[in-house]
Amino acid sequence: MLTLDGATVRFGERAVVDAVDLGVAEHEVVCVLGPSGSGKSTLLRVVAGLQALSAGRVLLGGADQAAVPPHRRGVGLMFQDHQLFPHRDVGGNVAFGLRVRGVRRGSCEQRVAGLLDLVGLPGAQRRAVSSLSGGEQQRVALARALAPQPRLLMLDEPLGQLDRGLRERLAVELRSLFSRLGTTVLAVTHDQGEAFALADRVVVMQDGRIAQAGSPLEVWQRPASEFVARFLGFEN
Ligand code: ATP
Ligand code: MG
Repeated sequence: MLTLDGATVRFGERAVVDAVDLGVAEHEVVCVLGPSGSGKSTLLRVVAGLQALSAGRVLLGGADQAAVPPHRRGVGLMFQDHQLFPHRDVGGNVAFGLRVRGVRRGSCEQRVAGLLDLVGLPGAQRRAVSSLSGGEQQRVALARALAPQPRLLMLDEPLGQLDRGLRERLAVELRSLFSRLGTTVLAVTHDQGEAFALADRVVVMQDGRIAQAGSPLEVWQRPASEFVARFLGFEN
Protein backbone atom coordinates (compact mmCIF):
# COMPACT_ATOMS: atom_id res chain seq x y z
CA MET A 1 0.00 0.00 0.00
CA LEU A 2 2.69 2.48 1.12
CA THR A 3 6.38 2.26 0.29
CA LEU A 4 9.03 4.73 1.40
CA ASP A 5 12.19 4.23 -0.57
CA GLY A 6 15.23 6.07 0.79
CA ALA A 7 12.99 8.92 1.95
CA THR A 8 15.14 11.83 3.08
CA VAL A 9 14.25 15.32 4.31
CA ARG A 10 17.05 17.78 4.97
CA PHE A 11 16.75 21.12 6.68
CA GLY A 12 20.07 22.77 5.94
CA GLU A 13 22.80 20.28 6.79
CA ARG A 14 20.63 18.15 8.99
CA ALA A 15 18.70 15.10 7.73
CA VAL A 16 15.58 15.04 9.87
CA VAL A 17 14.35 11.99 7.93
CA ASP A 18 17.37 10.03 6.82
CA ALA A 19 17.15 7.39 4.06
CA VAL A 20 14.04 5.74 5.48
CA ASP A 21 12.86 2.51 3.84
CA LEU A 22 9.44 1.48 5.11
CA GLY A 23 6.49 -0.48 3.79
CA VAL A 24 2.93 -0.61 5.07
CA ALA A 25 0.79 -3.46 3.75
CA GLU A 26 -2.93 -3.21 3.14
CA HIS A 27 -4.93 -3.58 6.40
CA GLU A 28 -1.74 -3.31 8.43
CA VAL A 29 -1.42 -1.00 11.45
CA VAL A 30 2.14 0.31 11.73
CA CYS A 31 3.18 2.53 14.59
CA VAL A 32 6.32 4.66 14.47
CA LEU A 33 7.71 5.12 17.94
CA GLY A 34 10.47 7.54 18.83
CA PRO A 35 11.51 10.40 21.07
CA SER A 36 10.60 14.03 20.47
CA GLY A 37 12.45 15.43 17.46
CA SER A 38 13.21 12.04 15.88
CA GLY A 39 11.33 12.99 12.70
CA LYS A 40 7.98 11.25 13.19
CA SER A 41 5.68 14.11 12.20
CA THR A 42 7.93 15.02 9.29
CA LEU A 43 7.64 11.45 8.02
CA LEU A 44 3.84 11.65 8.01
CA ARG A 45 3.92 15.06 6.32
CA VAL A 46 6.08 13.55 3.58
CA VAL A 47 3.55 10.79 2.92
CA ALA A 48 0.68 13.31 2.95
CA GLY A 49 2.52 15.49 0.44
CA LEU A 50 2.81 18.43 2.84
CA GLN A 51 6.60 18.19 3.00
CA ALA A 52 8.83 17.76 -0.05
CA LEU A 53 11.53 15.11 -0.09
CA SER A 54 15.20 16.01 -0.49
CA ALA A 55 15.82 12.51 -1.84
CA GLY A 56 14.02 9.19 -2.21
CA ARG A 57 10.48 8.27 -3.16
CA VAL A 58 6.99 7.81 -1.74
CA LEU A 59 4.82 5.20 -3.46
CA LEU A 60 1.13 4.66 -2.76
CA GLY A 61 -0.48 1.63 -4.32
CA GLY A 62 2.75 1.24 -6.33
CA ALA A 63 2.53 4.73 -7.87
CA ASP A 64 5.24 7.35 -7.31
CA GLN A 65 3.63 10.36 -5.58
CA ALA A 66 6.23 12.96 -6.59
CA ALA A 67 3.79 14.82 -8.84
CA VAL A 68 0.60 14.03 -6.88
CA PRO A 69 -0.77 16.89 -4.76
CA PRO A 70 -1.92 16.17 -1.18
CA HIS A 71 -5.66 16.16 -1.91
CA ARG A 72 -5.25 13.54 -4.63
CA ARG A 73 -3.24 11.05 -2.58
CA GLY A 74 -6.24 9.46 -0.89
CA VAL A 75 -4.60 9.62 2.52
CA GLY A 76 -6.06 11.04 5.72
CA LEU A 77 -3.94 12.77 8.33
CA MET A 78 -5.00 13.45 11.88
CA PHE A 79 -2.66 16.16 13.10
CA GLN A 80 -0.81 16.14 16.38
CA ASP A 81 -2.79 19.12 17.69
CA HIS A 82 -5.96 17.82 16.05
CA GLN A 83 -7.15 21.27 14.94
CA LEU A 84 -10.91 20.91 15.16
CA PHE A 85 -12.85 23.83 13.73
CA PRO A 86 -14.05 25.65 16.86
CA HIS A 87 -16.88 27.48 15.08
CA ARG A 88 -18.42 24.24 13.77
CA ASP A 89 -20.27 21.76 15.96
CA VAL A 90 -19.20 18.12 16.23
CA GLY A 91 -21.28 17.04 13.23
CA GLY A 92 -19.92 19.91 11.14
CA ASN A 93 -16.37 18.91 11.98
CA VAL A 94 -16.88 15.26 11.05
CA ALA A 95 -18.78 16.15 7.88
CA PHE A 96 -16.19 18.64 6.70
CA GLY A 97 -14.21 16.25 4.50
CA LEU A 98 -17.40 14.75 3.07
CA ARG A 99 -19.04 18.03 2.09
CA VAL A 100 -15.93 19.31 0.32
CA ARG A 101 -15.83 16.02 -1.62
CA GLY A 102 -19.40 16.59 -2.78
CA VAL A 103 -21.20 13.98 -0.66
CA ARG A 104 -24.88 14.99 -0.44
CA ARG A 105 -26.27 16.31 2.82
CA GLY A 106 -28.57 13.33 3.47
CA SER A 107 -26.00 10.58 3.10
CA CYS A 108 -23.52 12.84 4.81
CA GLU A 109 -25.67 12.95 7.94
CA GLN A 110 -25.99 9.18 7.97
CA ARG A 111 -22.26 8.67 7.68
CA VAL A 112 -21.57 11.21 10.41
CA ALA A 113 -24.00 9.43 12.75
CA GLY A 114 -22.33 6.10 11.99
CA LEU A 115 -18.86 7.51 12.58
CA LEU A 116 -19.83 9.07 15.91
CA ASP A 117 -21.25 5.71 17.02
CA LEU A 118 -17.99 4.11 15.98
CA VAL A 119 -15.79 6.42 18.06
CA GLY A 120 -18.06 6.17 21.07
CA LEU A 121 -19.81 9.55 20.82
CA PRO A 122 -23.29 8.58 19.63
CA GLY A 123 -25.67 11.49 19.10
CA ALA A 124 -23.03 14.19 19.70
CA GLN A 125 -23.65 15.93 16.35
CA ARG A 126 -24.98 19.21 17.73
CA ARG A 127 -22.56 19.61 20.61
CA ALA A 128 -20.15 22.53 20.57
CA VAL A 129 -16.53 21.48 20.21
CA SER A 130 -15.62 23.67 23.19
CA SER A 131 -17.92 21.65 25.44
CA LEU A 132 -15.98 18.41 24.84
CA SER A 133 -13.20 16.99 26.98
CA GLY A 134 -9.74 16.52 25.44
CA GLY A 135 -10.37 12.81 24.90
CA GLU A 136 -13.74 13.47 23.28
CA GLN A 137 -12.15 16.03 20.96
CA GLN A 138 -9.60 13.43 19.89
CA ARG A 139 -12.42 11.02 19.09
CA VAL A 140 -14.09 13.69 16.96
CA ALA A 141 -10.79 14.33 15.15
CA LEU A 142 -10.50 10.61 14.53
CA ALA A 143 -14.04 10.42 13.14
CA ARG A 144 -13.24 13.37 10.87
CA ALA A 145 -10.09 11.64 9.59
CA LEU A 146 -12.01 8.39 8.98
CA ALA A 147 -14.94 10.08 7.24
CA PRO A 148 -13.59 10.24 3.67
CA GLN A 149 -12.51 6.57 3.96
CA PRO A 150 -8.86 7.21 3.08
CA ARG A 151 -6.90 4.28 1.69
CA LEU A 152 -4.24 5.12 4.27
CA LEU A 153 -5.08 6.71 7.60
CA MET A 154 -2.22 8.54 9.30
CA LEU A 155 -2.41 9.52 12.93
CA ASP A 156 0.05 11.86 14.62
CA GLU A 157 0.03 11.22 18.38
CA PRO A 158 -3.66 10.27 18.20
CA LEU A 159 -4.03 9.86 21.95
CA GLY A 160 -1.46 12.44 22.96
CA GLN A 161 -3.75 14.62 25.05
CA LEU A 162 -5.09 11.83 27.22
CA ASP A 163 -4.05 10.52 30.59
CA ARG A 164 -2.43 7.11 30.71
CA GLY A 165 -5.48 5.04 31.68
CA LEU A 166 -7.70 6.47 28.98
CA ARG A 167 -4.87 6.36 26.46
CA GLU A 168 -4.33 2.63 26.83
CA ARG A 169 -8.05 1.87 26.87
CA LEU A 170 -8.62 3.91 23.71
CA ALA A 171 -5.58 2.36 22.00
CA VAL A 172 -7.11 -1.08 22.48
CA GLU A 173 -10.49 0.23 21.26
CA LEU A 174 -8.86 1.74 18.19
CA ARG A 175 -7.06 -1.47 17.42
CA SER A 176 -10.30 -3.42 17.29
CA LEU A 177 -11.99 -0.62 15.35
CA PHE A 178 -9.27 -0.68 12.68
CA SER A 179 -9.31 -4.44 12.44
CA ARG A 180 -13.11 -4.43 12.03
CA LEU A 181 -12.93 -1.77 9.29
CA GLY A 182 -9.79 -3.20 7.66
CA THR A 183 -8.22 0.26 7.81
CA THR A 184 -4.58 0.64 6.80
CA VAL A 185 -2.91 2.84 9.40
CA LEU A 186 0.40 4.59 9.86
CA ALA A 187 0.47 6.14 13.32
CA VAL A 188 3.25 7.88 15.21
CA THR A 189 3.69 8.29 18.93
CA HIS A 190 6.39 8.77 21.53
CA ASP A 191 4.43 6.53 23.92
CA GLN A 192 5.44 2.89 23.83
CA GLY A 193 2.33 1.66 25.65
CA GLU A 194 0.19 3.25 22.97
CA ALA A 195 2.33 1.86 20.15
CA PHE A 196 2.37 -1.67 21.54
CA ALA A 197 -1.39 -1.67 22.14
CA LEU A 198 -2.22 -0.31 18.71
CA ALA A 199 0.22 -1.78 16.22
CA ASP A 200 0.75 -4.95 14.22
CA ARG A 201 4.27 -3.69 13.65
CA VAL A 202 6.35 -1.17 15.54
CA VAL A 203 9.05 0.96 13.92
CA VAL A 204 11.46 2.67 16.33
CA MET A 205 12.99 5.91 15.05
CA GLN A 206 16.20 7.54 16.22
CA ASP A 207 17.40 10.82 14.72
CA GLY A 208 15.50 10.33 11.47
CA ARG A 209 16.57 6.72 10.98
CA ILE A 210 14.86 3.43 11.64
CA ALA A 211 16.57 1.84 14.63
CA GLN A 212 14.39 -1.27 14.60
CA ALA A 213 11.19 -2.61 13.02
CA GLY A 214 9.27 -5.68 14.08
CA SER A 215 6.21 -6.99 15.88
CA PRO A 216 5.61 -5.43 19.31
CA LEU A 217 6.70 -8.69 20.90
CA GLU A 218 9.94 -8.90 18.90
CA VAL A 219 10.88 -5.32 19.67
CA TRP A 220 10.02 -5.79 23.32
CA GLN A 221 11.86 -9.09 23.71
CA ARG A 222 14.87 -8.36 21.51
CA PRO A 223 15.67 -4.65 21.31
CA ALA A 224 18.14 -4.29 18.42
CA SER A 225 20.34 -1.68 20.05
CA GLU A 226 21.13 0.04 23.29
CA PHE A 227 19.12 3.05 22.10
CA VAL A 228 15.99 0.93 21.60
CA ALA A 229 16.46 -0.85 24.92
CA ARG A 230 16.90 2.43 26.77
CA PHE A 231 13.96 4.00 25.01
CA LEU A 232 11.81 1.06 26.06
CA GLY A 233 12.94 1.70 29.60
CA PHE A 234 15.31 -1.18 30.19
CA GLU A 235 18.11 -0.30 32.54
CA ASN A 236 20.96 -1.83 30.56
P1 ATP B 1 7.56 15.29 18.55
O1 ATP B 1 7.48 13.95 19.24
O2 ATP B 1 8.07 16.35 19.48
O3 ATP B 1 6.31 15.66 17.83
P2 ATP B 1 8.76 14.51 16.01
O4 ATP B 1 9.45 13.21 16.08
O5 ATP B 1 7.40 14.55 15.43
O6 ATP B 1 8.77 15.15 17.46
P3 ATP B 1 9.43 16.36 13.90
O7 ATP B 1 8.32 17.32 14.12
O8 ATP B 1 9.32 15.46 12.72
O9 ATP B 1 9.73 15.50 15.21
O10 ATP B 1 10.76 17.20 13.79
C1 ATP B 1 12.02 16.59 13.67
C2 ATP B 1 13.10 17.66 13.71
O11 ATP B 1 13.01 18.44 12.53
C3 ATP B 1 12.94 18.63 14.87
O12 ATP B 1 14.22 18.87 15.40
C4 ATP B 1 12.39 19.88 14.22
O13 ATP B 1 12.81 21.03 14.91
C5 ATP B 1 12.96 19.81 12.84
N1 ATP B 1 12.09 20.47 11.85
C6 ATP B 1 10.84 20.12 11.53
N2 ATP B 1 10.32 20.93 10.59
C7 ATP B 1 11.30 21.81 10.30
C8 ATP B 1 11.41 22.93 9.39
N3 ATP B 1 10.39 23.27 8.58
N4 ATP B 1 12.58 23.59 9.37
C9 ATP B 1 13.61 23.25 10.17
N5 ATP B 1 13.57 22.23 11.04
C10 ATP B 1 12.44 21.52 11.10
MG1 MG C 1 5.58 15.19 16.13
